[in-house]
Amino acid sequence: MQTISSYDFKGKRALIRVDFNVPLNEKFEITDDTRMRAALPTIKKIIEGGGSPIIMSHLGRPKNGPEAKFSLKPLVNHLSELLGGATVNIAPDCIGDEVKAMAENVKSGEVLILENLRFYKEETKGDEGFAAKLAENGDCWVNDAFGTAHRAHASTAVIAKFFPNDKMFGFLIESEVKSLDKVVKEPQRPLTAIMGGAKVSSKITIIENLLDKVDNLILGGGMTYTFVKANGGEVGGSICEDEFIDTAKNIQKLAKEKGVNLVIASDVLAADDFSNDANTKILAADAIPEGWQGLDAGPDSIAKMKEVIENSGTILWNGPVGVFEMPTFAEGSKAIGTAIVEATKKGAFSLVGGGDSVACVNQFGFADGVSYISTAGGALLEYLEGKVLPGIAAVRGE
Ligand code: AMP
Repeated sequence: MQTISSYDFKGKRALIRVDFNVPLNEKFEITDDTRMRAALPTIKKIIEGGGSPIIMSHLGRPKNGPEAKFSLKPLVNHLSELLGGATVNIAPDCIGDEVKAMAENVKSGEVLILENLRFYKEETKGDEGFAAKLAENGDCWVNDAFGTAHRAHASTAVIAKFFPNDKMFGFLIESEVKSLDKVVKEPQRPLTAIMGGAKVSSKITIIENLLDKVDNLILGGGMTYTFVKANGGEVGGSICEDEFIDTAKNIQKLAKEKGVNLVIASDVLAADDFSNDANTKILAADAIPEGWQGLDAGPDSIAKMKEVIENSGTILWNGPVGVFEMPTFAEGSKAIGTAIVEATKKGAFSLVGGGDSVACVNQFGFADGVSYISTAGGALLEYLEGKVLPGIAAVRGE
C-alpha cells in the first residue's frame, strides 16, 4: 500500500477527497475552519512534493443539482490564505470536459478545487460511472475525509478502483486510524471506556462491541437511570428508556461473563427541575423520589470513576457524565476530564471522540492534556462498533 509520506508526487495531479463541509453564515463567511485546517498537512505535502492538489469535497446537502448557496466558491480565498498565498482556483463543476482541461493544465504547486460533489446524486449513490469521471481529473487518489469514511460514496470509496497502485490515506485519516487502533486493536492495559451522554439507545452497539475489548466500562450521564431502573431502583423523573431495560440487564450480565468491571453511578446530583437554578441534593442513584431527576454524577461515583481512570493504560471517552452545558451539573464531567489528563501525564493513551465530549473537553480546557481528539462523528462511532469503513477498506484494497 502507498503512503503519503513516501509517495512521489512530482508532476502528479493528486485528487484529494477532503471534508470541507464547513459552516457558513448568511453572508457566506466561514464561521469555523477547523475542517479546512485539518486537511492542510496533506495539501502542503503534495505541493512540497512537486504535485498539484485537486480538491474534492461536499458542502451541505444540495437536493436537486447545483445550488449557488452550496457552492465551494466561498472557500477559495480562505484556502489560499491558509496555504500562505498559494494560487487556488475553482472549477465550475466536478466532472466534464472543461473541468478535465482545467485539471490537465494546473501548474505544479497550484491548487484546483472541484465544485460540490453532491451537486450530483451519483456521488452519494456510489455510482461507478461518476467515479470514473472524477478519476479523469487526477493521477492519484488521496482519501483524507475521515468524517465520510463510513460512506461508500463515489469519491470516498468507489473511485479507488481507478487508482489500483496510486491510492493512499492523507495524514488526517492516517492519524485517526492509528489513534483509534491504539484503543481498539492493541491497547495498553487496563483499557477503560467512559460512555456518557443522554441515551443508551444511541450507544448500545458500541457498548456491546466494547465489552469484548475493555477491562473497565464506566457508564454515565442519562443512560445511568435505565441501568438503575433495570436493577429495581427508583429513578424519579430522571431520563430513562424503559424499552431498553432488558438491554441494560443483558449488558450487565455480559459484563460479568466477560470479566469487565462495570462502573455505574452509586450516587447522583439530583435537581427538582431541568434548570441551572434548580434546587439540588445528593441522592443515592436508586432512591430518587418523584419530582427529582439525576443530572450529574455524585461525589462517591466521581471518586470511584476517577480511581479507575487514573489507573488505566488506555482511555476512551465518549459522552459527558452529566448535563455539562449547565455549570451546576458540570462537575462530574470536569472531574472525568481532569482524571483523564492526570492519567495521560502518567503515560496513558487517551482518546476523546464524539461531538459532545469534544465540546466538553474544549470548554473546560482539557484539549492539550489528552492524547488525541477525534472530531469525526458517525465514522468514529462505526469504527468503535467494529464495522469496516468503506473509505478505509477501499484504500487498503480490502
Ligand atoms: P450524546 O449526544 O448522546 O453524547 O448526549 C450528550 C448530552 O447528554 C449532553 O447534551 C448532556 O447534557 C446530556 N446528558 C448527560 N447527562 C444527562 C442526564 N443525567 N440527564 C439528561 N441529559 C443528560
